[in-house]
Amino acid sequence: MTAAVRLTSVTKRFGAVTAVDDLDLEIRDGEFFSMLGPSGSGKTTVLRMIAGFEAPTSGTVYLDGKDVTTQAPFARNVNTVFQDYALFPHLDVLGNVEYGLAVKKVPRKERRERAEAALVSVQLGGYGARKPGQLSGGQRQRVALARALVNRPKVLLLDEPLGALDLKLRREMQIELKDLQREVGITFVFVTHDQEEALTMSDRIAVFNNGRVEQVAAPAELYESPASSFVAGFVGTSNLLTGDAARSVVGRDGMFSIRPEKIHIGSDGRVRGTVEAVVYLGSVNHYVVALDGGGTLTVLRQNLHGASDQAIDQGDQVSLTWEDEHLIDLTPT
Ligand code: ATP
Repeated sequence: MTAAVRLTSVTKRFGAVTAVDDLDLEIRDGEFFSMLGPSGSGKTTVLRMIAGFEAPTSGTVYLDGKDVTTQAPFARNVNTVFQDYALFPHLDVLGNVEYGLAVKKVPRKERRERAEAALVSVQLGGYGARKPGQLSGGQRQRVALARALVNRPKVLLLDEPLGALDLKLRREMQIELKDLQREVGITFVFVTHDQEEALTMSDRIAVFNNGRVEQVAAPAELYESPASSFVAGFVGTSNLLTGDAARSVVGRDGMFSIRPEKIHIGSDGRVRGTVEAVVYLGSVNHYVVALDGGGTLTVLRQNLHGASDQAIDQGDQVSLTWEDEHLIDLTPT
């Protein structure tokens, strides 16, 4: 199958800054693809090059197998949803959603029908006569989505579209957005710096670091088999063991990681340490353990029995163990 989006050897420089560094990336038709990474790692620049708002310094951008590197944004079969929504305040909801179709001179009746269908798909049927000012943040976000979907783009680009929402609404919208994507079958390319958000929604995730992609994989694979210490630390808690800690815990030089929920606190473990901190998180507790041989490991335990389960306290001596298969070897080769 032809990739929905393909970038080959794409570099983007702004003066002395290399925002994107010789990037190869392939986004499959119909997938929910996220670009995840810290601020300044190049995600938005890649999105803008796919949209056509920014031209690569070198390299090629393909949409649906076609070289669009020099094509203007409006000529590309993509739409972008921005974080700030950018709705027209003086137009009602229907007017906002219809706007792009009116510009393209789609006949009035068809325009109306498509806009109404798009509003239904984002669960805003019946809101057409409201002004943006009369909507909640989540509803405004849905209008912005409907306005993009009404054009039936091949690819929808979303730049931190949930960033302005409070946490609870954000969680709800994550699930809705994923459902919507499945329903409409459009390729979604989603930019976020929130690892939990990316893990929840994506078919595959590209982890960006400093203008480069460190790994592209499905959420579970990123978490279980990170390709680098950066990925291990950005997606979850890395519990990185290097130097003396690696030698005393693993018995050899290198760089290793064990996820917090894979470590058990018991009496007859592999290593001993002292509990430095207990972090109560409601359904689980985190125990930060300073190892006798150097290094620190965070251990996660489910909080099954409430306050009576708090048998482990700060300052306690504990012994830790894990299955061999859960030790992740990140030693650079
Ligand atoms: P954020 O999560 O903060 O949006 P990002 O990962 O999307 O970050 P980009 O916005 O792509 O990162 O920026 C990548 C790098 O390119 C940064 O160092 C940024 O300062 C630089 N950059 C981006 N746009 C421009 C521009 N128009 N002029 C100069 N430098 C730019």
